[in-house]
Amino acid sequence: MTATNQPRARAQETFRRLRVIHPDAHCELDHVDPFQLLVATVLSAQTTDVLVNQITPRLFARWPDARALASAPVAEVAALLRERLGMFNQKGKNIVGLAKKLVEKHGGEVPRTLAELVELPGVGRKTANVVLGVAFGRPEGVVVDTHVQRLSQRLGWTTEQKPETIEKALCALFPPEDWNMLSLVLIFHGRRVCFAKKPACAACGVNDVCPSAFAAENVGRKPPRKRTAVVIEPAPKKKAAAKKATKKATPKKTAANTVVVKRGGATRIAPKKAAAKGKGSGRG
Ligand code: SF4
Repeated sequence: MTATNQPRARAQETFRRLRVIHPDAHCELDHVDPFQLLVATVLSAQTTDVLVNQITPRLFARWPDARALASAPVAEVAALLRERLGMFNQKGKNIVGLAKKLVEKHGGEVPRTLAELVELPGVGRKTANVVLGVAFGRPEGVVVDTHVQRLSQRLGWTTEQKPETIEKALCALFPPEDWNMLSLVLIFHGRRVCFAKKPACAACGVNDVCPSAFAAENVGRKPPRKRTAVVIEPAPKKKAAAKKATKKATPKKTAANTVVVKRGGATRIAPKKAAAKGKGSGRG
């Protein structure tokens, strides 16, 4: 084995062991066909599979295929989604929009290429590869969600931080026939053992080869959000008014406040008030 092949061989051996640990790894979004999987995956953005599975049975009972969903009023779809999901307006618009495109461009069927899938509303590279991998067994990359991102870093398979570059690193380590199961197995392991907080390293079947074992808490986690100090400044108008007020409160000593006083042969500059007093007193 050459030195360059060692990381690949080690990663593939660890993956083989993880597959044995999770023989039942599968996509946990309930569906019966590619259309339902596509819709469920779009709905799963920013939420859990559990919540999506609570709403899709009623959604698909009412609008079971692309043709039915394409003619559904967006407001009615959104109202149904609202019972379980956030972003229901946007998601409702997306799934009705994608159903319309499926009918118009693909005869109501789900296309089988990444290029065609990402043309649909609400469908990005990750969603497209879930559908290509799970429904058709032909992904064009590795699905990198939060679990795949965290585990591939903890297992020492990549030091990359962004999903796109992590995907490239994983595609270089594993052959295309493993790409679908790779993300499914990592997602299973991430949900059941290698939790984001407090990973169960003691119970993990690959802790003897994992470089992060028993020290993984902060590996592969999103960095804490930076809190920036907020400086509240007065609005421009108020600022100008405050300046004006300050001017009034501290009058400048100007020549206008003084008078020229002539007494006897002497001439001097005196404050107006003092000069007036002197005049009144009759002194001098
Ligand atoms: S040993 Fe710990 S950090 Fe490594 S994969 Fe297992 S649970 Fe995750």
